[in-house]
Amino acid sequence: MRILNTQPIRRQVIVAATILLLPLAMAVIWSANLTVHERETELRQQATSIAATSADYLNQYLDGLDSLASALARHPDVRALHEPQASRLFADMLKEQPLLLNVLLTAPDGSVHGSALPLTAKAREPIRLPYLSQVLATSRPVVSDLTVGRATGKPAIVLGYPVFDDEHKVVAVLGMGVNLARLQMVFASIPLPPGSVVTLTDRVSRILARSLEPERYIGTTIAKKPSDPKDAPSTIMSAGIDGVERFYGNAAIDRGPWLLSVGIPQSVAVTRVRPLWQRNLTILSTVLVGTFLILIWFADGLARQLNRLQLAAQRIASGDLTPPARGPVSNREVGQLQNAFITMAANLRDTRDALDRQVEQERKMREMLQSLQRQVVRQERLTAVGLLVSGVAHELNNPLQAILGTLELLERNPGLTPDALEEIGFIKTQSGRAREIIRNLSRFSSQQSGPPALVDLRDVIDEIVQLRRRSLETAAITLDTDCTSARPVYANFTELEQVILNFVINAHQSIEASERGKGRILIRLFDTGKKVRVEVQDDGPGVDLQDEPKLFQPFFTTKPVGKGTGLGLSVSYGIIDSYGGAIGYSGNAWGGATFFFELPAASAGTPSETGSSDAGDHDRPPVLHRSTRP
Ligand code: ADP
Ligand code: MG
Repeated sequence: MRILNTQPIRRQVIVAATILLLPLAMAVIWSANLTVHERETELRQQATSIAATSADYLNQYLDGLDSLASALARHPDVRALHEPQASRLFADMLKEQPLLLNVLLTAPDGSVHGSALPLTAKAREPIRLPYLSQVLATSRPVVSDLTVGRATGKPAIVLGYPVFDDEHKVVAVLGMGVNLARLQMVFASIPLPPGSVVTLTDRVSRILARSLEPERYIGTTIAKKPSDPKDAPSTIMSAGIDGVERFYGNAAIDRGPWLLSVGIPQSVAVTRVRPLWQRNLTILSTVLVGTFLILIWFADGLARQLNRLQLAAQRIASGDLTPPARGPVSNREVGQLQNAFITMAANLRDTRDALDRQVEQERKMREMLQSLQRQVVRQERLTAVGLLVSGVAHELNNPLQAILGTLELLERNPGLTPDALEEIGFIKTQSGRAREIIRNLSRFSSQQSGPPALVDLRDVIDEIVQLRRRSLETAAITLDTDCTSARPVYANFTELEQVILNFVINAHQSIEASERGKGRILIRLFDTGKKVRVEVQDDGPGVDLQDEPKLFQPFFTTKPVGKGTGLGLSVSYGIIDSYGGAIGYSGNAWGGATFFFELPAASAGTPSETGSSDAGDHDRPPVLHRSTRP
């Protein structure tokens, strides 16, 4: 028997779940991407705002430096180029300005007349830097390119200020070196994500200060084409000089003009989103796995329930219609299916039972019909034989009468020898026998008899006992009678005598045929309901089963030729039938045969209605021949 495979249902459930969960997964991924973009935007904003704040701070500081420088330039010692005093003044000021590298006072010829830091002999050599000549030429403050501090040897930018005398003539240049290394430290202290960089570039995009790896990149030009820092976009994403992709926030520093850039690596966005991603992924995968497991569990349960129904269906298909047992179900629909199934099986079984019963009924009816048909055929044959026999009997009777009459005349002839007389006697006996047969035949066929009268069956039985006693005694057969009924019947005495005589003679012959040398016969007369019944029972061998249906047929005999004619019982049948009685045969307790007939008990001198009842103790149901007077 094939067992339902749960795999297809499982596969379908998984496919359906996947189809449903796919958009969900896509939505999660899309949302994660969006979050990355949001983070990136945040980073851009952060970079821009930090750049702006830092630039503001730097601008303010430089403004402060300008004020300080103009105050210094007006100091008498400075204007007078008094070196020791100026240097002391500068040194005091330098202590309060950590971003300043040094302060130098230079005469227009480049000679140094004051320094905040002590100078070596070499450092005292006249300065030939372009900012000097620019200040002298313009009489305005000037910003130098990237240079190296005289006293410190560190990278620096010098802010050059003119020092005027009373006639507003430039008498000296005040140079303030901005400590780029210090500036870098300030940049580096800005709280930014790891990998971030703060860069200060000048108007030709040369790096002045850089919070990461300054030694490596200071002095390097970033852009191929120099552009005004004020025109730089406020935010941009690009690969930095070190090749790292960053979001840059730009802000211009007017004093330079310089450009302050704050770069935050793009990877920071991903790094920030990662925990969120991990959390979302964990939730999603847990939900997915959980959903799958629940669906598979559900599918398996469903498959099991359907499997049970399928097995039940196969059982029904193979002919077993017992309704399937009710099993546990996981949902209402399967429960309803199961109920419908059980009801269907029960209905099928009922229908089949009804069909079986109907078929059985039809079989019985068919058998009954066939047996009726056989009876009709037998009846028809009996009628035909009766007609034939009556014709033959009538034709034979006249010649036989003539033969017997002629024989009587012959007997009276005196000249006959004893031998001839004996021959004539033989012919007479045989002819008489033939006449007797013919009379019986015609009586059977025509079923005519003398006029009926009230007959006491005890008288009939007495006569038969007298008639047969001697003959039976000779054969060592005891004959008993048991008469309990005194009710008369309406019939012909001689005919009833003939019937009972036939029974007794048959019993006698049957006992003799058994060759036991003795036997017994019992004649009984008794009432059964509205009828009187006569039974003749013997202890002979009885009737063979296959002969029973033929007993009352004319010419049926089991006796040797010459001994039996097969007419006794059929004639008896005709007689009893003509009085509306029943005649039949059954086995008996002695192992022999019992022949019986029943006649309606007479009341007020008229024949009563027909009917029957069963006889006493018999081994087999009686063979009963019943008919109604027409
Ligand atoms: P016949 O006696 O001439 O044979 P019957 O019509 O009287 O014709 O009987 C028909 C047959 O019924 C007999 O040949 C016999 O086989 C059977 N039969 C009748 N009576 C008995 C009986 N008492 N015991 C056994 N068989 C019997
Ligand atoms: Mg007989």
